Amino acid sequence: MDATLPLRDAISPAEASPASARLGEALSVAGIVHAYSGAPAVDDVSFDVPAGGVAAILGPSGCGKSTMLRIISGLVTPTAGVVRLGARDVTRMPARERRVGMVFQNYALFPHMTVRENVGYGLSGLKGPEKRAEVDKLLALVRLEKFADRLPRQMSGGQQQRVAVARALAPRPTLLLLDEPFAALDRALRADMQFEFLRLQRELGITTILVTHDQEEAQAVADRLIVMNAGKVEQAGSPSELYDRPRTLFVNTFVGQASVIKASVAAESETASTLRLSTGDEIHLPRRSGFMRGTNVVIAVRPEHVVLHEKPAPGAIPARRMMAVPQGPLRLHDLLLADGTPLKAAERRASGASDAPPGGTVHVTFELDHCRLYPSS
Ligand code: ADP
Repeated sequence: MDATLPLRDAISPAEASPASARLGEALSVAGIVHAYSGAPAVDDVSFDVPAGGVAAILGPSGCGKSTMLRIISGLVTPTAGVVRLGARDVTRMPARERRVGMVFQNYALFPHMTVRENVGYGLSGLKGPEKRAEVDKLLALVRLEKFADRLPRQMSGGQQQRVAVARALAPRPTLLLLDEPFAALDRALRADMQFEFLRLQRELGITTILVTHDQEEAQAVADRLIVMNAGKVEQAGSPSELYDRPRTLFVNTFVGQASVIKASVAAESETASTLRLSTGDEIHLPRRSGFMRGTNVVIAVRPEHVVLHEKPAPGAIPARRMMAVPQGPLRLHDLLLADGTPLKAAERRASGASDAPPGGTVHVTFELDHCRLYPSS
């Protein structure tokens, strides 16, 4: 597997079994509002996930992600808004009739039941050999055939999670919901499980929504990101759309890294603008800023768009080196501008080059096409 590819691109559709039924239905939520005893938790949330798609709801703790999952699964009825699965309006439909499978963060397996019994629990309509055959099929799907008679506590976290997935898939849901599914796993196992999970998702074609606060995980797994903040959707779109064209400062700093520099618009014309940074330095953009002269703004710049110069260069701003850490093919620098604004810069690492010690001054310029401006809050 090519480690540089997002996971979702590392599995070709050809690996999906052509014989498998395409289970997924499209999901649409529109104008969802929910308050717990008067305190708003989600406020006018709308998004769509196409049949067979994988979407990640991403955002900081308390932003309303789990509430949205509960509303989609039917555990919570929203104060307002509509949930549609395929052509069905399921807003007021009981959870068990929706054909939605759910995998909880702690897997919620029955501790006293074997793996076979846990998975069979979701197959209430089947009995005897028919049920046994169906459980066998599900265990094969998650590659746990040999573990059917074990108890959950006799298995690793990753294996327990696969049992939880098999149990959620048993009633043949058209939509699978996962709440922080990989959070309890260590880093190496998490990557394996993400890959396994995507294989399964591709094989079944089941529409999937996962909730996570981990933006790297969301970008690796999902083909659509829904970024939430304080109960609202900040932006929804493909991972590269959100990374390359974030509409808000929140998205810019939450999806990927970005440093934030305060500035004011010193000059503005149709074709150019000048920004005066909080350090007193000026930078000239070969485009309109979109703000009136005198407006306070913030500039967001990603580490890979900061260029380092060892010597003073035209238009370059001095910065103090605080720390530099190697990260794969890159070296990540923590810098401080003259007024104390922190700045991160990523630089390609020449192989064999030694890491420069902290301290000393470096000079920075920005790739201006990639500097994004937002109104100052
Ligand atoms: P997230 O999953 O993003 O951490 P939640 O959906 O769990 O966010 O929570 C959104 C908001 O609703 C938070 O302010 C949280 O405290 C509140 N909340 C969540 N569940 C309940 C509940 N059962 N009763 C009261 N408030 C709740």
